[in-house]
Amino acid sequence: MADKQYLKEKSKGGTGDKASVRVDKKHEFLEKSLKKTKEELKASEERFKNIIEKNADGIIVIDSDGVVHFINPASEALFGLEKKKILGKSFGLPIVEGESSEMTVVHSDGEILWVELRVVESKWEDKSVSLVSVRDITRRKRAEEQLIHNAFHSELTDLPNRALFMDRLGQFCERMEPNEDSSFALLFVDIDRFKVINDSIGLTAGNKVLVTVAKMLESCLSKVDTIAHFGGDEFAILMENIKDLGGVMQVVNRIQSNLVSPVKVDSHEVYVSMSIGIRFGDSHSYDPQALVRDAENAMHRIKEKGGGAYQIFDQEMHTRAVNNVQLELEIRRAIEREEFLVYYQPIVSLSERRITGFEALIRWQHPERGIVSPGEFLPIVNEIGMIIPVCEISLRAACRQNRIWNSIGLPPIYASVNISAVQFSQNDFADSVARILKDTGLDPGLLVLELVEDSLIEDVEANLKILHEVREMGIRISIDDFGTGYSSLSYLKRFPLNTIKIDRSFVMELPDDSEIVSAIITMGKSLKLKVLAEGVETQEQLNFLYNFGCDEIQGYLFSRPIPAEEFTELLHKSDSLLSMIPTGDK
Ligand code: C2E
Ligand code: MG
Ligand code: MG
Repeated sequence: MADKQYLKEKSKGGTGDKASVRVDKKHEFLEKSLKKTKEELKASEERFKNIIEKNADGIIVIDSDGVVHFINPASEALFGLEKKKILGKSFGLPIVEGESSEMTVVHSDGEILWVELRVVESKWEDKSVSLVSVRDITRRKRAEEQLIHNAFHSELTDLPNRALFMDRLGQFCERMEPNEDSSFALLFVDIDRFKVINDSIGLTAGNKVLVTVAKMLESCLSKVDTIAHFGGDEFAILMENIKDLGGVMQVVNRIQSNLVSPVKVDSHEVYVSMSIGIRFGDSHSYDPQALVRDAENAMHRIKEKGGGAYQIFDQEMHTRAVNNVQLELEIRRAIEREEFLVYYQPIVSLSERRITGFEALIRWQHPERGIVSPGEFLPIVNEIGMIIPVCEISLRAACRQNRIWNSIGLPPIYASVNISAVQFSQNDFADSVARILKDTGLDPGLLVLELVEDSLIEDVEANLKILHEVREMGIRISIDDFGTGYSSLSYLKRFPLNTIKIDRSFVMELPDDSEIVSAIITMGKSLKLKVLAEGVETQEQLNFLYNFGCDEIQGYLFSRPIPAEEFTELLHKSDSLLSMIPTGDK
């Protein structure tokens, strides 16, 4: 191009010593061009250098012996190295051409960093070299690690969660070898009435209780034990390599003695008690899921007995658990085959001297075992999550049946139906009751729902809302098994109730031990609630209750729960039954 330019200039011509002038000019021109080219080259090199130097990624040139020929500032910063100390020296980077690879490197200040390497073959001063680009991916890696940590730890207590615990337990079970001296224990720990704690001090403080309890549990264990937070108020502990049950008991005692003093959170002092299920094992082969299930079963057993203690899983519980699996299958089949039916037990008013209502009590007409009572199947129905459809059977049947009895010209009677806690806490509970009333055409004023105290205090605000919805429809509310649950006067006052049913266990003690019954009747009257006594079996009990002003009676003395046809007969011929009611002054 310089020559072309020269020729152009030449063609313009000139005067004087034309030849020498021309040579000079050509020389001058060439020098200028060269300088320009050099400048251009320098600028280009500068630009290129700039790109390399300022590049956020590290770039390193390494020859086949691993000797570094070039390193840019980003690499220096990344590794905390100085160029002069590394140039010409060997640098141990694994070179895999083409693919990108990830590795950790130790920065000169000791920090561990994650880098991504990408290698391409190139030429450097006529030598074959590897051009390594190094990218700092520490932040991304840390975020990934955090995500993985989160997936396997409780957000609240930062303890391993169920998934991680099951994984470790699985590994433990695989490792386990027959060894006579070594045993292990799996503890399933559950805080008693944690919902009540949450309700009374609030969720935030409740969470702090969980964190404190988690730390306390951890402090009771040795380093080799594994503790996990399964969520909510449930924890699990794996104690490996223990000699005998004595070792487990030491830990359990340590936990229990820590619970003697209250947990302090904010301005609250909370007394916490725990139910601990223990699955003790020696070196046989175990299925991790089964171990946890056994420990959990043992925990439920002790909870049923009131909690605050421990229970060791035994063979009898195992048999029960196996039977439950069988029962579960049968229950699912029973729902399909409509084997559930409802019995009716009369409720008698002492002042009106007539049958004023009935309680609907579910039964299972088992193809081989005959009539099975709810105590045997409802707990399992509940466990397998079928309580709602099963209990709807009795609610619907009771409403339908009562509609029939109220259309035969006798004075109106009400249907009293048991509602389980799970059923009641459904968002659409009020709607589902309304639907059943509409379908069956029963007057809402002739329906009473029986709830146990414990199902009301689980979530007071939500329950109050449901109760008001139900009351507004004209339905009445009765507290069942009164005196056996979390009886608290302040709660009773807050809930829009109509009736309390004194539990059979107190009525049974009459007339010898009458204090509790008389106290409940007095309290019920002062709260303007109707009082009903359940489980009245003798004339003496009836007489006592009559004299004490109890409003209604239900029990075998009048009638056992009976099928609908028998109940119809009873309604028509109730005179003999009613003649048992004393007359005269109280
Ligand atoms: P509950 O609601 O307290 O019902 C009273 C229980 O006492 C009934 O037992 C009844 O048969 C029994 N009983 C009544 N009078 C006497 C008596 O004089 N002596 C004795 N020893 N027992 C008497 P059942 O029918 O076995 O029901 C047990 C529990 O099962 C009920 O206790 C209730 O909590 C639950 N249940 C029954 N049916 C249903 C239902 O349809 N839905 C729900 N959610 N629970 C139900
Ligand atoms: Mg009941
Ligand atoms: Mg009851």
